[in-house]
Amino acid sequence: MKQLICRCDSGKPFEHCCKPFLNGDAKPKTAKQLMRSRFSAYALGGCGNYLLGTWHPLNRQGLNAGELSLRQVNWQGLEIIDSDQQGDKGVVEFKATYVDNEGETFVHHELSTFLREKGFWYYVGELQKHSS
Ligand SMILES: [Zn+2]
Repeated sequence: MKQLICRCDSGKPFEHCCKPFLNGDAKPKTAKQLMRSRFSAYALGGCGNYLLGTWHPLNRQGLNAGELSLRQVNWQGLEIIDSDQQGDKGVVEFKATYVDNEGETFVHHELSTFLREKGFWYYVGELQKHSS
């Protein structure tokens, strides 16, 4: 059987990449792994609980798992440009390509910050955003 390649662009089979994180069988060990798994969650849809659970509690207001489960746009691919981790703080710069409902392609360029608390990584937010 052909193995499904993970949506996060790691080139690895989904089974051995983001799936254990999305299923709750494992926790991402680095900010980059969390970033990748969150992209997979958005790309696959139906993973609102995972997205909410990995969002830092202080920045979760107004979010709900139902909305986060919807695939608002069609995510195509992820490119990690840079990542840095010092202690319990991480930064990941990435470009994510998506196609909107009108079929137009866009690139979402984000510098995301992450925090590790009690051994778990959380997405804190975005430092800056610009389209390119
Ligand atoms: Zn993956």
